[in-house]
Amino acid sequence: MKIGIISDIHSNLEALQTVLEKMPSVDPIICAGDIVGYGANPNECVGLIKDRNIRCVLGNHDRAVLTGDTSWFNPLAAKAVHWTRNALHSECREFLAGLPEKLSFDFDFPLLVVHGSPMNPVEEYVLEERGARRCFEAAKQDLIIIGHTHVAQSFSLGKTVETGYYKGGGVLNLGGRTIINAGSVGQPRDGNWMASYAVIEGRRAEIFRVAYDVESASKKILGAGLPQFFADRLHAGI
Ligand code: ZN
Repeated sequence: MKIGIISDIHSNLEALQTVLEKMPSVDPIICAGDIVGYGANPNECVGLIKDRNIRCVLGNHDRAVLTGDTSWFNPLAAKAVHWTRNALHSECREFLAGLPEKLSFDFDFPLLVVHGSPMNPVEEYVLEERGARRCFEAAKQDLIIIGHTHVAQSFSLGKTVETGYYKGGGVLNLGGRTIINAGSVGQPRDGNWMASYAVIEGRRAEIFRVAYDVESASKKILGAGLPQFFADRLHAGI
């Protein structure tokens, strides 16, 4: 079986459409959260996730849009949360409200999906070996899928924890226990502006980077009156 992994779409319809178009034929597609926030097409992105029956967990931006609580956000990100809260249709809000904080599957091997970490599923950033070790301790599954950092990255547990980066894509063998962050579809922050996603088949994962119409996505952000920084950073991949 082939599993598609996406995360951190952030209302970027151009990036999401391109990823779904370019992704090889997979079933299921799993999303590690943050469908909305930052970009100009929250309803369209939630609609696509629903239509394609993509299994998704709740991200911190999804939750902030539901609750209106932006106490953990910087002022610009908070502005995007409030803009999205106003723009979101009620059926999309209902869909986000129904998202679980964790999903677990038993495919070829046991798999856990969270936005942040197994310890703190919605909020915690895992960027380093120490955090990765705590994830391995807290979860029993062989494979842990995370998002949230917008950096395509892996942690493989052996005698040490080996960290991999996928700024230009790449292949990873899932020999032992592994954490995969498929990077961000709609706002990559690892210095490559191209949308990021992963495909897992058996004990092999591949991370792909794909060019999309970044010009259109950033123009829509400006047209919606959202902060210019969110348009600029799409081009830079930061
Ligand atoms: Zn995010």
